[in-house]
Amino acid sequence: MADIAFACSSCRQSLEAPEEMAGEDIACPSCQAVITVPGPSAPRKETAAAPGCPSCGAALVPGAVLCTACGYHLVLRKKLATDFK
Ligand SMILES: [Zn+2]
Ligand SMILES: [Zn+2]
Repeated sequence: MADIAFACSSCRQSLEAPEEMAGEDIACPSCQAVITVPGPSAPRKETAAAPGCPSCGAALVPGAVLCTACGYHLVLRKKLATDFK
C-alpha cells in the first residue's frame, strides 16, 4: 500500500496518509485545519489544495487569499471587515 503525499491547504505542511484514507477528512497535525486526503491518482499541482472558504464554504479561485463572499482571509485566517464605506 502506497502512501499518498499531499500538502496541507492551510499551512502547506507536507503530509502523508495511507491510500485507504483517500477522500476522508483529517485534521492537519501541524495547524489542525481539516483537510481532505486526495485520491492516489490525483494530478500533482501546486494549487491542488483550494477547497473553498473555510468560513462560508464559497468556492475560491486557486491562489486566492481572500474570500470575496465573506471577507475571510486565508493567510491571516480571520475575517476582515468587508464594509468599506
Ligand atoms: Zn496545516
Ligand atoms: Zn467566505
